[in-house]
Amino acid sequence: MISEAKGGSCLTCYGTGEVVTESGAESCPDCYGTGRLPGGGTATEWRIRDVERAHRGTGRESEAEVLWLVHELRRSREALLRIVALCEDVGSAEQLALEVKHAANEVLGLYEPEG
Ligand SMILES: [Zn+2]
Repeated sequence: MISEAKGGSCLTCYGTGEVVTESGAESCPDCYGTGRLPGGGTATEWRIRDVERAHRGTGRESEAEVLWLVHELRRSREALLRIVALCEDVGSAEQLALEVKHAANEVLGLYEPEG
């Protein structure tokens, strides 16, 4: 089982959960007012969602490129998650190597998948 890595104190708000802006104190946008960053990749997923939200539907020239990058980043992170899970459930070394290679190839597209 994968246990979540513990996150640290938020560096944007110094752990207070609030940032002071021109319009007064607001909930910190990086830790959503908690003062701490969650572990286990949750903070990264939050940032990915922020980037996605900031670009989706804008009609800007960069919209399609940014959304494609977001998609590729998610695909890569999912492959890494599968690899970590595979490593925690090791059968034979040969089988593990084959499955890790397959998971990485799904993202990288180095080889045509067999069968
Ligand atoms: Zn914060």
